[in-house]
Amino acid sequence: MSTSLERIEFYRHHLGDAEIAAVAETMKSVFLTTGPKTKQFEDEFARYLDLPHVVTVNSCTAAISLSLEALGVKPGDEVITTPMTFIATSTAILHIGAIPVFVDVDPLTGNIDPKRIGDAITTRTRAIVPVHLYGHLCDMAQLREIADRHKLWIVEDAAHCVEGRDPHGFGPGHFGDAACFSFYATKNLCCGEGGAIATRHTDLVEKLLLLRLHGMNRDAANRYHDATYKHWDMTVLGQKANLSDIQSAMLLPQLPRLKSLLARRESIAQRFEKVFSQLPGIAFPSVKPGHQSARHLFTLWIKNGHRDHFLRDMGEMNLGVAVNYRAIHLLTYFRERFGFRTGSFPHAEQIGDETASIPFYPGLTDDHVSHIVDRVSRWAERVAK
Ligand SMILES: *Cc1c(COP(=O)(O)O)cnc(C)c1O
Repeated sequence: MSTSLERIEFYRHHLGDAEIAAVAETMKSVFLTTGPKTKQFEDEFARYLDLPHVVTVNSCTAAISLSLEALGVKPGDEVITTPMTFIATSTAILHIGAIPVFVDVDPLTGNIDPKRIGDAITTRTRAIVPVHLYGHLCDMAQLREIADRHKLWIVEDAAHCVEGRDPHGFGPGHFGDAACFSFYATKNLCCGEGGAIATRHTDLVEKLLLLRLHGMNRDAANRYHDATYKHWDMTVLGQKANLSDIQSAMLLPQLPRLKSLLARRESIAQRFEKVFSQLPGIAFPSVKPGHQSARHLFTLWIKNGHRDHFLRDMGEMNLGVAVNYRAIHLLTYFRERFGFRTGSFPHAEQIGDETASIPFYPGLTDDHVSHIVDRVSRWAERVAK
């Protein structure tokens, strides 16, 4: 094993010549904003997901807000969600004036615990926004059953879960009413900034198309293709949340590579799990039998109050680390606005206090993986002593 101290970045994207060529081609065409490349990506991503419709937007945050709005969630309505996620899951709910209502998570996966949802439902509850944390699908059949019983919508935060599948082969969007994806710089499918909504509901598509672009009934591509000028109208109040053709062009060549990139991450994850399962004072989330995780992040649970030592020591050893995530109900805004305190959601808080993500992406070489395994193992053996 090499002993060099080169820095291993927390994340490096995997984009290359195919994406550069696709962007260059788009820059030489008429359309920079939402146009033919965006339509092509929407069609191909829908085919990849085995769902009838995809509407792209400029972020997953917008995808969640617009999906809830299109489904009729109004200011003051309650939306059940998880505190173990990136803040965007909740800020997307807050942006439309709705109220996030947190439910604690399953301590094995970190996903929202369906058994606890019943107690959180009130007459004002309209929707559930589950998050497929790190790429492991929530128990969607059970969530669908709860939602149907209480007449709630399900908007899935699938920012981590392009490739995740349940034991029957179903991915995001099959049980939910809308599944929201992120193409942010560090996501498995990425274009810097971007997002999409996948849905089975044909009647949702027209609403989403209006809501993503000011509520205008003719977008730039429509207007361009008219032989003579036609007036457009504004029928609802929409957002400015469309995706550009430059970004769609960057996404298209990645679709055929998703499978091989996932296989590489799966093999790195299995090597990590094999070694780390033997270490003292360290655990990690489970992938339930039969599930295919999208393997978006690899996060360790550092026990005995040592998480922040781990972060500091790994940084000093030139290893990029991150925290995904501290429980969001304990962030200042949520404490002050909703009165949450330590103890409100103990499982999410425990994960939030123990979690530390290590470098995990297809571009890691076997040598990098050996370095990471070695550094984490030595640290655990030293600290546990
Ligand atoms: C990245 C992320 C988001 C937000 O995605 P954007 O495209 O940056 O808006 C939402 N939820 C989760 C779980 C994420 O990781």
